[in-house]
Amino acid sequence: MYDSLLITDCLLLQESQGPLLPSAYILCENGKISSIGPMTELRRPLNMKEINGCGQLALPGLINGHNHCAMTLFRGLADDLELGTWLNDHIFPAEAAHVNADMVYWCSKLAAAEMLLSGTTTVADAYFFEDAAIRAFADSGMRAVAAHGVIDFPAPGVPDPTKNIWTAAQFIDRHLGTNPLITPAVFAHSPYTCSNNTLQEAKKLANDQGVPFFIHAAETRHEQGLIATPLGDSPIRHLAALNLLDQNTILVHCVWLDDADLQLIAKSGAKIVACPQSNQKLASGSPRISEMLALGIQVGLGTDGCASNNSLDLFREMDILAKGQKVRTLSATALTARQALACTTSQGAAVLGQPNLGRLSPGSPADLIMINLKHPHLQPFYSQDTLVYSASGADITNVIINGRLVVHKRQIISFDLQECLRQVRTLAKLLSPSKAEL
Ligand SMILES: [Zn+2]
Repeated sequence: MYDSLLITDCLLLQESQGPLLPSAYILCENGKISSIGPMTELRRPLNMKEINGCGQLALPGLINGHNHCAMTLFRGLADDLELGTWLNDHIFPAEAAHVNADMVYWCSKLAAAEMLLSGTTTVADAYFFEDAAIRAFADSGMRAVAAHGVIDFPAPGVPDPTKNIWTAAQFIDRHLGTNPLITPAVFAHSPYTCSNNTLQEAKKLANDQGVPFFIHAAETRHEQGLIATPLGDSPIRHLAALNLLDQNTILVHCVWLDDADLQLIAKSGAKIVACPQSNQKLASGSPRISEMLALGIQVGLGTDGCASNNSLDLFREMDILAKGQKVRTLSATALTARQALACTTSQGAAVLGQPNLGRLSPGSPADLIMINLKHPHLQPFYSQDTLVYSASGADITNVIINGRLVVHKRQIISFDLQECLRQVRTLAKLLSPSKAEL
C-alpha cells in the first residue's frame, strides 16, 4: 500500500555528510522517491496529498541495526545488575515463563510504536517466535530484517535445541520473498551458547538462502573463557577458524577486539553493529568504533533489546556513540556527529545489505522522517550535528516508509496504539502483578 505524497518547503538533508538544502520538495510515488530538489524546480502534480514542511527538516529514516523487539516487556524489570546476574537470574527465567507468540506480537508492536515515533524506519530484530514479530512489523508498516534465533538450549518456541537449525530454515522458507519490507535472517546467539557445529550449520543456512547472518560476539571481557571448544584464542579468531567471517556476517557488539581481530574483520568484509548504551549499562566496555571505521569496516548502530538500554530512541544512541568514543580515546575528534549519523543511515543500511536505504535520492525507497525545528532546543540549526547532540525522538513529526505515511503529526496512523498499550499492560501484569504500575 502506497501513498502518493508531496512534501513541500522543507529543509532537506539527503545524506548524512551532505549539505542542507533550504526550501526543498520531495515527491513520493509507488513507494519510491520519484523526484527531489529545490521548490523552484517543482512541477506540481495534480490531486496529491501534500505535507507542508515549513519549519521542518526531512532526512533519511533511521536504521536500528540490532534489537530484540519483544523485550519491551522487560523494560525496567531488572536494572543496575551485572550482565551474568541480569541474564541468568532475571531475563532468561522471565523469557522461559512469558515468551509466546502472543507476547512477541504485542511487545514487538510496542517496540515498533516507540521506534516509529522516534524516527526509526528500519529495524534488524533478533528473537524467537519471529513469525509473530514479522506480523507486528507488517501491521505497523515498518521495514525489518527479522532474524530467527538459534541457540543450543531449549528456547521460546524451540523446546528441542536439536531442531534449532530446522526451525530457522522453516522460518526462512515461509518468509523469503513474500513481503518487500521484510527480510528473514538467521541469528546465532553467540559463540558461547552455540556449539561449533551449530554455528557452522546456521551460517551455511544463511549463506545458502542469501540472507544476513547475525551473531553477538566479543561482548564481554570474559567471553573467550565461556566458549566450550575454542578454535582460536579470541572469540573473533574462533569464528574465523570456523569460516564464519564474510560479507554476509554481522557481528553485534565487538567490544573486546584486539588489533589482530580488527584486521581479520576488515579483511573478511564482515560488518559490525555497535550497541554502546547496552554496553555501558551492562558495564561490558566501550567498543573501538573509531579504529573500526579507520580500517574501512562498515559499522551500524543498534539499541539492543530495551531491557538493557532501556530506550529504543536512536537519537540518544547516536549521542552516546559519539561521546563514548571521545571519552574512550580522550580525543574530541575520535568520532564525529556526522559519522554517528552515517552509522544510523547510509552505513547502517549497507551493514544490513540494503545499500539503497539511508539516503534520499530519485529512485530510492521513500523511507524518510521529518523533524520539527521550531523546538527551542533545536535553535539555531546550523548543521545536522545538532541532530546528534541536541535532538530526540520526541522531535519527530512525520514518518514515511516505502512511500506510506505511518506517523502523521506525531500520531501513529498505521495501527491502533491504544489497543497495543492495553495488551502489553495485561502481559506486564501477568509478569509482575506487584510491580506493573498501570
Ligand atoms: Zn542483542
